[in-house]
Amino acid sequence: MQVRHETIAHKQISILGSTGSVGRSTLDVIGRNPDRYQVYGLTANTNVELMLAQCQLYQPRLAVMRDPQAAAQLQMRLADAGLAIEVLSGEAGLIQAASCEQTDYVMAAIVGAAGLSSTLAAVEAGKRVLLANKEALVMSGGLFMGAVAANKTTLLPIDSEHNAIFQSMANGAPGHAGGIRKILLTGSGGPLRLLPLADLHKVTPDQACAHPNWSMGRKISVDSATMMNKGLEIIEARWLFDLAVDQIEVVVHPQSIIHSMVDYIDGSIVAQLGNPDMRTPIAHGLAWPDRVESGVAALEMTQIGRLDFEPPDMHRFPCLRLAQQVAAGPQSLAIALNAANEVAVQAFLDELIGFTDIPSIIESVLAKTDTDEALTMPAIMAIDKAARQQAETLMRQHQRQRPRVSQAGDRNA
Ligand code: NAD
Ligand code: MG
Repeated sequence: MQVRHETIAHKQISILGSTGSVGRSTLDVIGRNPDRYQVYGLTANTNVELMLAQCQLYQPRLAVMRDPQAAAQLQMRLADAGLAIEVLSGEAGLIQAASCEQTDYVMAAIVGAAGLSSTLAAVEAGKRVLLANKEALVMSGGLFMGAVAANKTTLLPIDSEHNAIFQSMANGAPGHAGGIRKILLTGSGGPLRLLPLADLHKVTPDQACAHPNWSMGRKISVDSATMMNKGLEIIEARWLFDLAVDQIEVVVHPQSIIHSMVDYIDGSIVAQLGNPDMRTPIAHGLAWPDRVESGVAALEMTQIGRLDFEPPDMHRFPCLRLAQQVAAGPQSLAIALNAANEVAVQAFLDELIGFTDIPSIIESVLAKTDTDEALTMPAIMAIDKAARQQAETLMRQHQRQRPRVSQAGDRNA
C-alpha cells in the first residue's frame, strides 16, 4: 500500500471509469510516476472488488460507484479495511469526482453515453480533460467543443489515433496547425478483416472481441470488428481538429504501429508510431507537453520489418459507411448512430442478435431520425432516448427471426 504524501507538485487526478481497460492503464502510468501524480478520485459502475483493490493501492480521497448498492458495499468494505475514503454514488457522485476543486486532471474513460454528463462537467469546470470516451464527443459535438472554448479547458485526445494526430500537429503547439491537406486515420481492420464474407453472420462475441493488436473493453472491441470504431473516430476527429469530413481518410493498417498521420500541403506526411499500448497516449496526455515513462517497450523497427496499408472494404464494414455518411450531417444523426450502435452491440454481446444485425438496426434507426442540430443537453438526451427505444424494438424483431441453433441457450447443446 502506498502512503499518501500530498505536495503542491503532485497533480491530482480523477479517473472516470477506473476499473475499465483505459482506467487500469491510467493507474499503471500514474503508479510509475509517483513523484508527479496522485489519485484524487476513482469511479466505476458496479465492480466493488476491483475498486476496493484500487483504493487499497492508490489511496484516493474519493471513490464513486455509479450503482448505489455497489457504493454501500464498497463503504462497508473500506471501513473493514480501515480506509478513510469518501464514497459517493450515482451520476451526482461521478460529476463530483469530475469537477471538484481538488482535482487537476480528469481521465474520461467511461464507455458510451453513460460518460457524457461527467465528462462535460469536467470540461465545464476547466480541468485538464484526457478524453478517451469518444462517444461523449460524438453525441454532443458542437456543444462539447463550445464548452471547451468557453472554459479554456485543455482537452487532450487519448484515443490513440487522435493522440497521434495531435502529436503530429507540432504536439499541439498553438498556431502550428496550419497547412493541413488531410489526416490519415489508421485502423487495423479488426479481427474479421480476412474472414470470408459469407461467414460474418456466424461470428460470436468472443471472435469479435479477439482483437489482433489491442486489448480493450468488449464494447470498443466489437466496434473495432465492425469498424464502427473508426466511424466514431471520424466524427471525433472532425470535432477535435475542426476539419471537414472529406479531409479525414481512413486507411487500413493491419500492424497498428502507425497510430495516424497528418498530410500537409507541402507534401510532408507526419506520423506517430509506437507499440499498440494505450499507456503511450495516456502518458502523453498526463505529461503534455513533457514526457514521462509509460512502461511501454521501445519500438524495434527492424523487428517489425514491414508496414502495410490498404483502403477499407465498405462492403465488409457497412457500419463504417453509415458513420461516414452521418459524420458531415446534423448532430441528431450522430446521436442516433451512437445510441443505436450501443444498443445493438450490447444485444450482440448478450447473444440476442447476430453480428450482421448490428448495421441493419443502426441503418433503420437512422432512417427514422429527424435532422436536428440538437445544441442543448435536453435535446441531445431526447434524441438519444428515442433512438435507443427504436433500436430495442428492432432488436426484438431480429431476435425473433434468429435461427434457434444460434440462440444463447443452445450453446451447450
Ligand atoms: P471498459 O468497458 O473496459 O471500461 C468501462 C469503464 O466505464 C469501467 O470502469 C466501468 O465501470 C465504467 N462504466 C460502464 N458503464 C458505466 C455507467 N453506466 N456509469 C458509470 N460508469 C460506467 O471500456 P474501455 O475499453 O476502457 O473504454 C473506455 C472508453 O475509452 C470508451 O469510450 C472507449 O471507446 C475509449 N477507448 C478505449 C480504448 C481501449 O484501448 N480500451 C482505446 C481508445 C478509446
Ligand atoms: Mg482508437
